Amino acid sequence: MMSSANPQPSIWRKHRFLLLRRLSQLLVLLTFVAGPITGYQILNGNLSASQLFDSIPLSDPLLTLQVLLSGHLPEFSLLLGALIIGGFYTLFGGRSFCSWVCPVSLITDAAAWLRRKLHLPRLPVLPRYLKYALLALVLLLPPLTGLLVWEWVNPVPLVYRELLFGTGSSLWLLVAIFLLDTFISERAWCGHLCPTGALYRLLGKASPLRLAAKQPQSCDLCMACFTVCPEPQVLKPVLRGHEMKLTATDCTLCGRCIDVCNQNVFSFHSRLQLSPATTYSINSQPQTDTSPDRDPSRMEKHL
Ligand code: SF4
Ligand code: SF4
Repeated sequence: MMSSANPQPSIWRKHRFLLLRRLSQLLVLLTFVAGPITGYQILNGNLSASQLFDSIPLSDPLLTLQVLLSGHLPEFSLLLGALIIGGFYTLFGGRSFCSWVCPVSLITDAAAWLRRKLHLPRLPVLPRYLKYALLALVLLLPPLTGLLVWEWVNPVPLVYRELLFGTGSSLWLLVAIFLLDTFISERAWCGHLCPTGALYRLLGKASPLRLAAKQPQSCDLCMACFTVCPEPQVLKPVLRGHEMKLTATDCTLCGRCIDVCNQNVFSFHSRLQLSPATTYSINSQPQTDTSPDRDPSRMEKHL
């Protein structure tokens, strides 16, 4: 039930981060294709390695690590590009790459939407440590083989190739990810398997940017945020009233929980802004809240 103090939110208010994320993904794609169309090249290359304005190198840290481990000394521009991208995502949330840039999230978001429509269960079928095991395997193969084996099947650049050139040769992989996420395990690829996401998770541990429950006392436990969150396990401590800021680096900073929360509970924060005193206020919140809207049985059903 929505509080009468909150008017019906506008379409923009309910979908703003989703729309901004799609715009961001589209803009990154368009900057690669702008050159041939407009004659003014913003980004040369692809998501693995590119140059901004023909001068600033940008490169995938995972690709660069594989090149180093294969025994080849990469060009200085590749190393510098990996430092720039790695530094950027260390500052801005690690997995924000997954929701604001990576084109694979278009496929996995579509599969999650279909799962919700089909009312399929949200039970985690795959263990979450698999992504780190896969990351270790991806980094182990280059020294053993001398080859960048993972890059032959890495869906992140493959989706880009499909979107930009439509070769059709990688479609089977994208269909496989969609079917896996829809019918086997929710968010199987991004949440449990993707080694690129696993590396960005590790970078995100140092990020000052966090999602926080700014107004925890307003939460009526409608569970709308839990339903749309791509990593719902990260919300459990917040909804149970144990934490104010999300400490789990699985959060992709997608902002969907901010979009769908009619009570305006969440916002982005620098973790330096959140003091121990503010954390204490949410710890005491579940015991003191007597609002009839706040029905704990709804939470227990989900958590
Ligand atoms: S924080 Fe989540 S459960 Fe609480 S009111 Fe907002 S959407 Fe509902
Ligand atoms: S907690 Fe919110 S911002 Fe983080 S992944 Fe879930 S919906 Fe997105």
